[in-house]
Parts: sequence; structure tokens; C-alpha cells
Amino acid sequence: MVGEKTIKLAINGGIGFGSKLTSKQLLVLAQYMNEEDELEVTTFQQLYIDIPASKLEEAKLAFERVGLAHYPVGNFVKSLRTCNFCKGELEEGMPVAKEINRLIAGKAVPFTLRPAYTGCPTACGEPLVNDIGVIKRHNDRYDLYVGGKAKGLDAKTGDLFAKEVTEAELYMMIDYLIDTYASNGKKREQFGKFVHRYGLEKLIAGIKAV
Ligand code: SF4
Repeated sequence: MVGEKTIKLAINGGIGFGSKLTSKQLLVLAQYMNEEDELEVTTFQQLYIDIPASKLEEAKLAFERVGLAHYPVGNFVKSLRTCNFCKGELEEGMPVAKEINRLIAGKAVPFTLRPAYTGCPTACGEPLVNDIGVIKRHNDRYDLYVGGKAKGLDAKTGDLFAKEVTEAELYMMIDYLIDTYASNGKKREQFGKFVHRYGLEKLIAGIKAV
């Protein structure tokens, strides 16, 4: 419908071996585009597509039917960026990455938050330059980093928040970090700046009290 309001969705093929889309998925995406429309490829393993508001729910269902994941765009937790799991699904913790994504992607936060997961210390998923970064160690334990930043002249690597935690501890800590940021972050305050203002030590002390 000409002039109809559109809603931007972030799309990807979910967490798997590499960031891949099938031809079937591309065909479904194309059904919601006019010939002159464009898909925007982001640096975060997502495609942005503008959907007419009246077709939003129908489009979400169509995407889900072919295995496309969709997320809101704006001040939300983005879908989890991952490495390509080159050494295997279980060895590199793909189920853990899926569960982290299920727990946090799309949650409302003061400013867009980029989480990243990587299946071994080679760290192809660049967890140290994202807001929340997870590195799976070789002993089924996980290191958790906070406050990394890839862009800008103030780019920096994240600070170690917790070392060699269990899977259950990892979920609890990520949940705590996002809830604390959602409750205490100022409007449009980036997560790294929040960590700096709120205090890494205070955040670490808070998790010990949970
Ligand atoms: S981080 Fe490790 S498991 Fe993941 S793609 Fe890189 S080398 Fe492979």
C-alpha cells in the first residue's frame, strides 16, 4: 500500500554453522519486497528489511516457517553474534549460544546492546570488542567479558567479568548484567559507558549477592 508505515525487522538464519541463508528463505524475504526495495546487510550477521505495518505479523510467521529468525531494531539486545563453530556443534557449545540468544535477544535496554559468543579462545566471533562477550574454554567453562567496543576512536577491548564459569552461572550472569543495565542505565547510554559509570567492581559485587 503506497505511503503505508513500515516496520524495520532484523533477520538472520538463526544460530548455526556460519551465517547462511537458503534459497527458500531468500524467496520468502523477496515476497515482502518490491522490485526496487533493498535489503541492508549489517555488520552483525543481520539483514534489515522494512515490512508494511499491516503485513508485519503475517511476515513474521512466514519467516518463522522457513527458519528465519526476526528481531526488533532499535534499543534492544541484538541477536547473538557467533563464530562459525568450525570444530563442531557440541564441542564449541552451539546449544549454549542458542540458549543465550533465546534468553536475551530482543530485550529492551537503554541503547542497542551487541552480545557475541565464540566457541574457543581463537575468538573468531570477536567477543572482546562487543558489549558482552563469551569465550568457551576447552574445559566446558566460559569466560565472560563486558564493555568491549569495536567502533570509534574510543574503541577498546572488554573487561573480564568472570572467568571459567559453568553454563548455568553464565546464563545467570548475562541475565543479571542485562537486567542491571535495563534498570540503571541512562537513556541512550551505551553498555560500555554504563559499566564504566556504574563500576565494574560494583557489578561484580552485585553478582556475588545474587
Ligand atoms: S572461535 Fe574457535 S570454534 Fe569458533 S570458528 Fe573460530 S576457531 Fe572455530
